[in-house]
Amino acid sequence: MNLSIIIPLYNEEESLPELHEWIRRVVKENNLSYEIIFVDDGSSDNSWKVIEGIAGKDPNVKGIKFRRNYGKSAALNSGFDLAVGEVVITMDADLQDSPDEIPELYKMVHEEGYELVSGWKKKRHDPLGKKIPSRLFNLTTRRMSGIKLHDFNCGLKAYKNEVVKNIEVYGEMHRYIPVIAKWEGYKNIGEKIVKHRARKYGVTKFGMSRFIKGYLDLLTINFVSKFGKRPMHLFGTLGSLIFFLGFVIAAYLAYAKFFLEEYRMTERPLFYFGLLAMIIGTQLFVAGFLAEMISRTGSERNQYSVEKMIDKPKE
Ligand code: UDP
Ligand code: MG
Repeated sequence: MNLSIIIPLYNEEESLPELHEWIRRVVKENNLSYEIIFVDDGSSDNSWKVIEGIAGKDPNVKGIKFRRNYGKSAALNSGFDLAVGEVVITMDADLQDSPDEIPELYKMVHEEGYELVSGWKKKRHDPLGKKIPSRLFNLTTRRMSGIKLHDFNCGLKAYKNEVVKNIEVYGEMHRYIPVIAKWEGYKNIGEKIVKHRARKYGVTKFGMSRFIKGYLDLLTINFVSKFGKRPMHLFGTLGSLIFFLGFVIAAYLAYAKFFLEEYRMTERPLFYFGLLAMIIGTQLFVAGFLAEMISRTGSERNQYSVEKMIDKPKE
């Protein structure tokens, strides 16, 4: 099968028939074999009914319905598990992403060797209050990850099948899929300018809180990818440094008290700095130890992304 098209959706009943028709027309015109996987993220409207209707008519349509709303990342992750097509494409259900982009995206992965292609909504049809924070968000992510993309959070993306099987998204991490893929070792990340349209039906499902959560997730991803398997290197180093600083201060104060001048330790503000530094240093160190113990019990502690292997049968 050439294509798996994954569509996460939450209360998008009006858009679905139109979206399905459009995708079907585009892939048929291009002679691509396909499956469409609708992942209903616990909609409370008639979305699932509509999907059942569509699936009854089109044998290429699969669907999953969550019992409650878990979020877009969860929906994508479940879709990824199911996808069997050589190229996996994700798109939003609200008709803001155009299915006309599918053939070109397919080509970029199938022929040009990209492992991940992210859409870039160069001309965006969203309110200004969303565009400006989004710019800032993309800038930070670009700087922190070193990936040269303009639009990390574009819902329209294409992947080599292997990529989606090797990455895991949860919480609200779908914003950082290219970052996660890069840290799994996928380097051929491309970008394609895509058409974007204003939302036709329904309303946006993410409020302003998306920006706060987005930044927190970026910190988590950064931390997990760098120190997830060796937390002690971060906490131990920081803890030791801070403790050492406190110790030097305390030693100096003791020395000065006995050999230079008479005073009460507690009269010197520096004393409190030293004390605080030693306590915080110890705590960081202990936190590092605990984190290390926890990561040792993690079942994925020895999971690596293997690209190639030469193995020979035992004689
Ligand atoms: N979505 C989802 N679960 C959620 C929130 C959103 O599956 O909890 C889907 C939504 O139905 C849409 C896509 O994710 O297909 C993008 O959401 P939306 O269009 O609301 O985001 P925006 O375009 O405003 O960034
Ligand atoms: Mg949208």
